[in-house]
Amino acid sequence: MADPKGFMTTPREDWPRRPVRERVHDWNEVYVPGALLPIISEQADRCMDCGIPFCHEACPLGNLIPEWNDLVSREDWRAASDRLHATNNFPEFTGRLCPAPCEAGCVLAINQPAVTIKNVECAIADRAWEEGFTPPRPPDRLSARTVAVIGSGPTGLAAAQQLTRAGHTVVVYEKDDRIGGLMRYGIPEFKMERRHLERRIDQMRAEGTRFRTSTAAGRDIAADELRARYDAVVLATGATAWRDLAVPGRELTGVHQAMEYLPQANRVREGDLEVSPLSAAGKHVIIVGGGDTGADCLGTAVREDAASVTQLDIYGQPGPERDEGAEPWPTYPRLYRLSAAHEEAGELRSAPAADADARLFAASTLRFTGDADGRVRELHLTGVDAGRRPLPGTERILPADLVLLALGFSGPDREDGLVDQLGLELEPRGTIARDARFATNVPGVFAAGDAARGQSLIVWAIAEGRAVAAAVDHHLTGAPSPMPAPIGPYDRPMTA
Ligand SMILES: Cc1cc2nc3c(=O)[nH]c(=O)nc-3n(C[C@H](O)[C@H](O)[C@H](O)COP(=O)(O)OP(=O)(O)OC[C@H]3O[C@@H](n4cnc5c(N)ncnc54)[C@H](O)[C@@H]3O)c2cc1C
Ligand code: SF4
Repeated sequence: MADPKGFMTTPREDWPRRPVRERVHDWNEVYVPGALLPIISEQADRCMDCGIPFCHEACPLGNLIPEWNDLVSREDWRAASDRLHATNNFPEFTGRLCPAPCEAGCVLAINQPAVTIKNVECAIADRAWEEGFTPPRPPDRLSARTVAVIGSGPTGLAAAQQLTRAGHTVVVYEKDDRIGGLMRYGIPEFKMERRHLERRIDQMRAEGTRFRTSTAAGRDIAADELRARYDAVVLATGATAWRDLAVPGRELTGVHQAMEYLPQANRVREGDLEVSPLSAAGKHVIIVGGGDTGADCLGTAVREDAASVTQLDIYGQPGPERDEGAEPWPTYPRLYRLSAAHEEAGELRSAPAADADARLFAASTLRFTGDADGRVRELHLTGVDAGRRPLPGTERILPADLVLLALGFSGPDREDGLVDQLGLELEPRGTIARDARFATNVPGVFAAGDAARGQSLIVWAIAEGRAVAAAVDHHLTGAPSPMPAPIGPYDRPMTA
């Protein structure tokens, strides 16, 4: 660290967001362009180089955080980029999208605001692209081994990049018309502009990875054919089988899944549609589900100019401070967090009757009621206690023209028939079963990412992709792989 007293003399400063009333009129990232680089070296200098970096443990990729903090504080951007890319294929994705469990585990966070680790990561990644520190790295020679990667989300992309760079011939099959998985059609552009994704895909093409879009494994190419054609198959198909809400009125027009709504808005951004058929414009919108997918619906509905938007969360409102008894440092605590979408909805008063910003906490949906044409018009809810039991006298009715269900996902989608064609064993909760080497019960077939882990995060997906690549490399070469494997299939986030 350039200044050993940096953590005492420099307060935490985050990458500033653009004014709410400006940014809700566009779909660009919410941050002020160019405002991160001028502050980031001083921020990196807040790292104490504490000696036992719990941030390493908290980051599933094992990012070498104190090392690159030191390099950034000294403005050695090339070396910082090398250290960062040694553990993370796509730091510009995590630098924008990761909830940063590393910061919850930062030693400074015991009694002060954590180092802005995620911002430092993003600054290094962006600087690396600007300066040309991340050219394509095609392999020196080919192994004559072939791998099919099914699914092009962060898991499939990380696995494909690692295996391609190791000299194997990799083809990525994607059933959608574009590459990227949930980073393409789930996550809105105000969280990550698509140019970051396109740039990585171009890099991967230049390295030799081949992509086949609009090709569903199981439907457009049979499982047997995949196994016959390739030496190994990696299933990175995600966990997009959504949870539903079995309450009266669910069948009414205007009640949709979040992942029916968000892809349409993203397709408008891609230029495929003039207007989303599910646009929230002029509608009273209720989002059922308090998680990040719900927040993405919130930010999207605000930008589509909804008449009102309310987000229901079945859990009670968390406090601003960590509960040291239940969720002690360095675990990732449940806190009251103000995402960019919540900040926007709060400032614009999108939900006049909410508890905080746009959220109603400890609220459970009882039923939907509609008009004579079968369109949803109202949502009936009740307050609940911590055990989700209804509290008498707390029933309320909210106007609702568009209801978005953001209740999470249960496991891989089985519509394409891949799971059945292969005869894959599943875990009781519906995810693909695998052994300690990421291998399924079918020889030569591996599973990684949300499809096997269950609904997770981009950082876990990239870690899964890197780890499954090492396992596949071992399978193909017959020798332990020199490739990094940051996690095992049974690793989970730190808990108390
Ligand atoms: C709306 C939303 C917002 C999110 N926001 C964040 C966030 O801000 N930060 C964060 O860390 N995480 C976020 N997540 C979670 C994160 O996106 C996922 O954990 C991550 O994308 C999982 O990566 P994956 O590669 O395993 O699966 P996916 O990204 O789901 O990719 C799987 C791909 O496989 C393809 N596929 C499926 N079946 C087949 C088949 N038979 N043949 C060919 N292709 C197939 C799918 O079309 C898809 O493209 C969000 C999730 C959602 C739903
Ligand atoms: S990937 Fe996430 S957890 Fe890891 S260093 Fe970056 S922000 Fe932190």
